[in-house]
This record gives sequence, structure tokens and C-alpha cells, in this order.
Amino acid sequence: MPNQKRLQDICPSTVETHLKDSRASRPAIHSSVAYVAESPDHADRCLGGATPGFIYQRDANPTAEMLAEKSRQLHGADAAVVTSSGMSALSLVVLGLLKSGDEVLLSSRLYGKTVTLFKQAEKFGISSRLVDISKVDEVRTAFGPKTRLLIVETISNPMLRVADIAALSAIAHENNSLILVDNTFASPVLCRPIEFGADLVWESMTKIMNGHGDVVMGLLCGSQKIWGQIPATLSTWGLTTSPHECWLVERGLSTLFVRLKSACESAMRVAEFLSQHPRVSSVHYPGLAAHPDHKLASQILQLDGRAAFGHMVTFQVPGGVSAAAKLIKNLESIHFCASLGELSTSLSHPASTSHRTQNPQQWAEAGIDGGTIRLSIGLESPEFICESLNRGLASLDV
Ligand SMILES: *Cc1c(COP(=O)(O)O)cnc(C)c1O
Repeated sequence: MPNQKRLQDICPSTVETHLKDSRASRPAIHSSVAYVAESPDHADRCLGGATPGFIYQRDANPTAEMLAEKSRQLHGADAAVVTSSGMSALSLVVLGLLKSGDEVLLSSRLYGKTVTLFKQAEKFGISSRLVDISKVDEVRTAFGPKTRLLIVETISNPMLRVADIAALSAIAHENNSLILVDNTFASPVLCRPIEFGADLVWESMTKIMNGHGDVVMGLLCGSQKIWGQIPATLSTWGLTTSPHECWLVERGLSTLFVRLKSACESAMRVAEFLSQHPRVSSVHYPGLAAHPDHKLASQILQLDGRAAFGHMVTFQVPGGVSAAAKLIKNLESIHFCASLGELSTSLSHPASTSHRTQNPQQWAEAGIDGGTIRLSIGLESPEFICESLNRGLASLDV
């Protein structure tokens, strides 16, 4: 038996030599916490940013950088970092770019936790107000002297309203404010908000970006001129994620284009099928001509040069919560899951999940009721998904 010292020193140098002579076709996971510095001067230059190189995993590591760089290119952004969750990417914006006394304008249709985060940020002296971004004139007058940031979602939950990112970016900039776009439902395959003038883009990579339902992660991309504090804030506040998770998301990203293309095509078929169904009272999908943002969506959501409208489809059944519950019970192959963008089609019921704490009047303002169901279309064939829905809907009274 080699003694303990030998055990930790055994370095398979032959393997290292062979690796140098071969090029792996897929990226490696670099899980080392620390990197060996050649000298005090080398460590100093690396940590100060004068020399590229790695010293400590939380500051920077190769696997996270590989994923961030890939995402940066997909978005056509100047800079990008990956974070431990979608929410921590938003925390990074707050901690790195805002200060006490700043005000933030929030689209009234944002992801619930985004609004909650800004409620909690009040204790740091950061205030927020809601604005209906579909009314451009209202947005124009909503800015005040302390407004520093406008936050919108490319495609909102659950009514799938689409933001006019170009117009909203122009208004934000006229008011010396930045605009941050939550692009989670679109992904860079369908929309690259930076091209429309957004300063910052964030995404929950937990959803369609990774697409396999096995990692929680966030992405923040932005322009160089406001990026200064972001990398140091990421490291200091400990918002980084693990190399193993980065490696999984990189693998997920490799198939993002084909996954989303297939899901968009199926979602269109499912939306058309539901529109014809006698037991469905309304369907909300930006690909349908009747959707209030159909024209805008055709312009800003594109895949391979053609309009594509995403993998989310929302519909309503008459009969409120009890009808929705009956449908959910009878949908054998479509599960009620608290996430979206996974391999299999899943559904959510906003009244009991994302909009649970709101009252029926607030539901009405959001356009939902107890019978609203939101589908996340997966990789099954559209025939299979429609047939599953058909069998479930057959259990409802007309
Ligand atoms: C899930 C989600 C988030 C939060 O992301 P996490 O990865 O769960 O922290 C933010 N915005 C939208 C639109 C989401 O769907």
C-alpha cells in the first residue's frame, strides 16, 4: 500500500501527456477549487485581471466560462456570466447595479418571484412600481427622476403577451434608465433582446435552455459599458454555480435549437387543435392570429428566419377550478409540474401555483381564472399530445 503522501501525489502523467496529444470532442468538467499559481507575481496578476488564468473556482472557472461564452455568443452580447439560479442572476443585477434610493419599473405581468424580490429589496432602499407595458404611453410617463431600471419579459406567463423590446428600450434610454429583459420563455433561439436595444438579458437556464429538468441555473448577459461591477459582485456575494451543473447545461444547450424548433411546431399544432375543441373556451398562443400580440410576435420571435412562437400554450376550460382539477386528473400522460421547458409536455395551473396568492379580481386583471391551464410543450409528437388532451377533455361536461 502506498502511504498517504504518495496517494495524493500520484498524478497519472502518462494520461496527461496523452490528453495533450488528443483533442476531446466534448468539453471537460474542471471541478478543481484551486489552481496552482507559478509565483506570487503570477497569482497577483491573475487575481487583478492583468493575466488571464484561474486561481479560485468562485472567482472564475473554465467550465462556467465555457458555458457563459457559448451563451454570450448565442445572445450576441458583450459579456455573460452564469449563476446558481435564475433568481440569483436577478440578485446580481440588484447587488451589482442598483443602490439605495433607486427605483425600478416592473412590467405588471412578471414572474411572481421577480416582484417578490423587489418587495424584499425595499429594506435596502430600492423601490419598485408596476406598469402595463402593452400601453406604451403609460410606460413613457411612468419614469421618474430616480428610475434606474425597467424590467420586462419577452413572453409573459401565463397569457403569453409579447413585449415590444425595441420601443421599450428606446423609452428607457430616453429616460436615462436601463432595460433588463427576462427572456426565459423565448431563449436566444427565438429572441435576442440585445439586438433590439436591451442593456441586460437574464434567463432561467433551469427551463428550456438546459431543457432536461435536472439543473437550476441562471444567465445574465449585458453590454460592456455597464458590466464593470458584475464579475466581482458575482464572486463576492457567492452567486456562482458548480462546474458539474455548467457541464450539464452546456450539453443541454447543444440541442436547444432542435428541441425548440420541434416544440414550437408542436405548440402551433396543439394551439390550433385546442382552438377547435368544443370543451375549450379560449386559447392563448402568440402564433394564433387572434392573439393580441400576434403581429409583434411574428417580428421579434424568429427561428431560422421564420416566425416561431414558442413552446408555451395557455387555454381555458369553462367550470373554474373544479373543471381544471377534473381535467388534470384525467390527463394521464401530461403531468402537473411546477416547472416548464422539460423534455416531456407538462402543465401548470396558475390559480393554484404562480397566482395562488392573488384574489379573483387580480386574476381577472391578469386574464386568468380557475379554469386556466398553461402547457409547456415537450418533444412528443403533436399527434400524441393532442390525443392525450382530447382524452382528458372528453371527461368534461360541455
Ligand atoms: C423559472 C423562472 C424564473 C426563475 O428562475 P429559477 O431558475 O427558478 O431561479 C424567472 N423568470 C421566469 C420567467 C421563470 O420561468
